[in-house]
Formats: sequence, C-alpha cells, structure tokens
Amino acid sequence: MTTTGANTPAAATGTHGVPAAHPGPVLKCLVWDLDNTLWQGTLLEDGEVTLPDTVRDVVVELDSRGILQSVASKNDHETAWARLERLGIADYFVLPRIGWGPKSDSVRRIADTLGFALTTVAFIDDQPAERAEVAHHLPEVRCYEAEAAPFLPARPEFAPPLQTVDSRRRRQMYQAGFRREAARAGATGPDEDFLRSLELDMRIGRATGEELSRVEELTLRTSQMNATGVHYSDADLRRLLTDPGHEVLVVTLTDRFGPHGAVGVLLLERHPDVWHLKLLATSCRVVSFGAGATVLNWLIDEAARAGVHLMADFRPTERNRMMEIAYRFAGFLDGDPCSCGAALARAAADGLQRLHLRPAPRPASTTIRVGAVDLARRRSGPGTRAVHTGAAPSRPS
Ligand SMILES: [Zn+2]
Repeated sequence: MTTTGANTPAAATGTHGVPAAHPGPVLKCLVWDLDNTLWQGTLLEDGEVTLPDTVRDVVVELDSRGILQSVASKNDHETAWARLERLGIADYFVLPRIGWGPKSDSVRRIADTLGFALTTVAFIDDQPAERAEVAHHLPEVRCYEAEAAPFLPARPEFAPPLQTVDSRRRRQMYQAGFRREAARAGATGPDEDFLRSLELDMRIGRATGEELSRVEELTLRTSQMNATGVHYSDADLRRLLTDPGHEVLVVTLTDRFGPHGAVGVLLLERHPDVWHLKLLATSCRVVSFGAGATVLNWLIDEAARAGVHLMADFRPTERNRMMEIAYRFAGFLDGDPCSCGAALARAAADGLQRLHLRPAPRPASTTIRVGAVDLARRRSGPGTRAVHTGAAPSRPS
C-alpha cells in the first residue's frame, strides 16, 4: 500500500476528517485529548462542556472491542476528572494523565505502564501543534484529528481480529491489575499472606469453542509458559474438543480485585490405566500466584481418585524451566519403569521426555480455591459439564 499513515503531515496538520491510511498494526490503546476532542468546549474557560452522543458511542464501542482508552489533557486534573465522572464515562479511561506536561510524555508513560509498544498506541487531539509534538517525539504513535473520532471504529486498525469474553472486559482486567499491584506494593509480611488475601478462585472446565478463542488470545497477547514445549495449533485443539478420548480443559482465575481471564490450557488423553498430559500451558501473568503448580496438584489428585497413573510430555526449552521445576516438585520422574507407558503412542517429536507419576491424593492449595470438572468420573456424554464449585474444602483427601 502506498497511501500515507496517520502521522503524515496531511494528517498532522489536519485538512480532512480521516487520514488516508496505511492502517498499520491493530491498536491496543487510544489516548484522548479532552477539550474540543472528547467533549465540545474548553472546560477551564467555558465552564460547561458537552459530550456528543457520537463520541460517547465511539468510547463504548472501542471499549467493547478490548481497546484500552486513556486521557492526555492539559487541564486541572480534579476539575477534568470530576467532569468525566459527571458525564458518566470516567470508568472507561485507564491511567489518565491530566496536567500541564508535554503530551508526548503522557502518551509514552501510558504506553510504558501498560507494557504496550508505541506502534499499538494512538492519540487523538484537535490541536495540530499537540499532534505534531507527539508525532515528533513518538513517530510510531498514530495521531488522529478530533474530526476523525466518529469514524475510528470503521477503520481497520481499530478492529481486532478476535473478540472474546476476555477482550470485552480487558479494561476491567487491567483496572483490577492496577489495584492488585498497588495492594502487593503495600503488603508487608510473607508472600503467602498476600496471596491468601487475594482470595484467588480457579476454575478448571472442559473447553468450549469460545473458551478456546480466549486461550488463543492469551497466546497472542502474552508470552506463554508452555510446560510441555510441544506446540498444538488452535485447529488441533478444536478437533479434539469432540474426541471422547481427549480432554481439552481451560483454566480461568479470578480474585477479589477482578478477573484474570483465561490463564491456562491442558490437553489430556485418557487411557484405562494412565492419563497422558500432552499439553500444559499457563500465562506468565499468573506464575507468581502458583497457578501452574496448583493445576498440577489438582490433576494429580484427580488421577489418584480415578486410580490411574500420569504421564506428561515434556521438552525442555529456554523458557519453561519454571514448569520443569514444578513437574519435579510435584513428583514426576524421568525414566520411571512402568508398564503403563506401553499404552501411549510413541513420542512424535525428538527430545521429548515422558515424565511419569504414580499419584497419591493431594491436599488442596492453601492459597487458591479450585472449582473443577470431575475428571475421575467418566464423561456421560458430549458437552456434559460437571463443574462443582468450592471443590477444595469438600474434596476427600
Ligand atoms: Zn505408570
């Protein structure tokens, strides 16, 4: 495409509403100016400002697509934030920067705090000089004129390819994350006390197509801890959803601050005497909560109740050392002689180890409540979801 990006002089100086665009990568965050961009009027001069319905609709629509929104405005912080609250839209904005510093600083800090590349951040402002200032210092950031606001949702760079339950509530997940981090920073005493204070609640259930999309998104958005080091494509996993010999399980996590979303996936093949763990992947975001170890602990307890052994595919990679430790800590052994391995197909990939475990009942986690599908009881039919909640306290040990 030979057309120009949003940062071209034409766009920055503002002649027409929508810049002719090379859309670039899909955007993850839009930073709004307030006066005569988000709302009409200059707050400190006019006192009254109005929020056009068209702009309100854009804010709501982008939010529902999982695009985060923030504010970079030269205004009095308290006055401007109070006005956003009165307009009923303050909750839509994360990490607002309202003050008198350069807007390029504000945009950069917002991107840094979110951990987003500048190429995925956009800025909208009615003032050509402000757009030029941001474009000069942050050439990767795409800048839009205020007049373009109503047309943004129609632009391809504002249309993420995949929308899931997690993208629809991405803002709440980030807001919960900020509150959680603040609580962690303020916490004193042992880490275990802090973890317990989070009231972590893990759900492990059979995946549906929609939930697999959440996992796929997790693999797209965050780097992942793939415990097996063996890759399964989304299409492979979808095919196995209806295979009675396989279990595809999705792990979600919530705490008192809000949802973490889908944080893990397991692929298990059932044999009469052994369950074969072919894939275990968890999000890096929840490693510090002990999520991987909790999933393994739950699986071992289920296998003990079902009277089967466990065999886990494992291939060491540079990035899954933490999970190797979790396997060893859980009691998995390499080269453990046992006849159950004969039931398994030969390892398909080079360098693949088969880690073996003879399960015994495990005590429930003291920091994460687990509510999970009852794997020990055979599935009675496709689509049956025997999720029992609050399993941890009532689990026989
Ligand atoms: Zn065995």
